[in-house]
Amino acid sequence: MVRLDSPPTLSNPPLTYDYDLAISGGGIIGLTLASALNNSGLKVVVIEAKPQSIAAAKGQAYAIHLLSGRIFAGIGVWDKILPQIAHFCHVQLSDADYPQSVNFETNDLGTEVLGYVAEHQALLKPLQDFVSGCPNITYLCPAQVLEAQYQPSGVEISLRVGNEVKTIRTRLIVAADGAKSQIRQAAGINTRGWQYWQSCIVAFVKPEKGHNNTAYEKFWSSGPFAVLPLPGNRCRIVWTAPHAEAKAIVALNDEDFLAELTRRCGAQMGKLELEGDRFVFPVQLMQSDRYVLPRLALVGDAAHCCHPVGGQGLNMGIRDAAALAQVLQQAYSQGEDIGNLAILKRYESWRKQENLTILGFTDLLDRVFSNNFLPVVIIRRIGLLVLRRVPPIKVFALKLMTGLKGRTPEIAQKF
Ligand SMILES: Cc1cc2nc3c(=O)[nH]c(=O)nc-3n(C[C@H](O)[C@H](O)[C@H](O)COP(=O)(O)OP(=O)(O)OC[C@H]3O[C@@H](n4cnc5c(N)ncnc54)[C@H](O)[C@@H]3O)c2cc1C
Repeated sequence: MVRLDSPPTLSNPPLTYDYDLAISGGGIIGLTLASALNNSGLKVVVIEAKPQSIAAAKGQAYAIHLLSGRIFAGIGVWDKILPQIAHFCHVQLSDADYPQSVNFETNDLGTEVLGYVAEHQALLKPLQDFVSGCPNITYLCPAQVLEAQYQPSGVEISLRVGNEVKTIRTRLIVAADGAKSQIRQAAGINTRGWQYWQSCIVAFVKPEKGHNNTAYEKFWSSGPFAVLPLPGNRCRIVWTAPHAEAKAIVALNDEDFLAELTRRCGAQMGKLELEGDRFVFPVQLMQSDRYVLPRLALVGDAAHCCHPVGGQGLNMGIRDAAALAQVLQQAYSQGEDIGNLAILKRYESWRKQENLTILGFTDLLDRVFSNNFLPVVIIRRIGLLVLRRVPPIKVFALKLMTGLKGRTPEIAQKF
């Protein structure tokens, strides 16, 4: 159980610190934050509940934005990640069977690629190896944060490491512990949002024809349907459908599942072969009322969650991590207290509004396209026509989708 202690009183004695900063959660976001603080002078501890190999084995895959790639390059892990992931140079966006698709190409942005697709392990393992080699970072894995007690000068954190319960003292705790963040809940931070009426089916397939480094996003009235290229001519399917339909689809036998899948995919990739199991995930939109409190900051899914359309969730968290690292490093180099609310507010005012824009964008996409109401169909087809014909709008949309809108963290500016 994690709880926020009673409001700090001035009678609490000042703490002596074991670490400057503790990160609860060593998923991709927690480890990105820690890695971005390599050589910062800050003493960091990352606490992850799952053993390294189990955490890395999650069967998830993500579209990775250009900006996220630049952040990883700035950290120094990109050369380990890049050989294990796929890139895409074309994005095809289409409205169900309507023949006029919007095609985004690299020359629209003047970049070599439009994005990447990575399996969880291809991101997490290089980050785990990286933090293990950083002299200023202690990586406690497996270890679990049990409780955080906030005092005016710091945080006392109880941890379970093996059979032992230990207490450590830090200036700041960062919650990178996922959508159900215990740290956020115990601190009494409210969230707003909703569960979608859709669930998301994910699967890996091997198409008969090559994927041609193309990412497809098809908007069916039941929900968005994406095909993302992976190494080894495999593809990741991210398929949203109303809950009951999604449940029925994953329960189909392989042959019937593939027949349904092929119907949504179209014929462009030929016969599909299923690789491994398929899974169904609930989908929600969530934004925390606050990203920071004195001596506490939230990053990644602990702070916000969005619909998987457009592959934004993890990328938003990577930008949170890079932004928070920058704010903390600057404060530390100026001799400021990194747990001070005024410092942490610099991070919140940078990231909260940018994330809200993306949450709104993904929600609008889902609502406008998961809809057969004729006036809405007409409006969205006009919208697609505008995207095809008006280059500045096409470039704006592409920049939004690839993370190139908004403030760029300094760590990504070297590339
Ligand atoms: C179907 C689907 C498809 C998606 N596709 C994409 C995509 O293409 N692109 C994209 O950008 N995003 C995508 N997302 C979103 C993405 O999966 C999440 O945004 C991302 O995984 C969040 O990472 P995180 O590190 O914040 O949280 P998590 O991955 O949940 O990590 C939290 C970590 O904290 C640890 N932890 C929890 N409690 C404690 C504790 N008390 N002590 C110690 N450790 C603890 C957990 O073990 C875990 O390792 C998708 C999501 C879904 C559902």
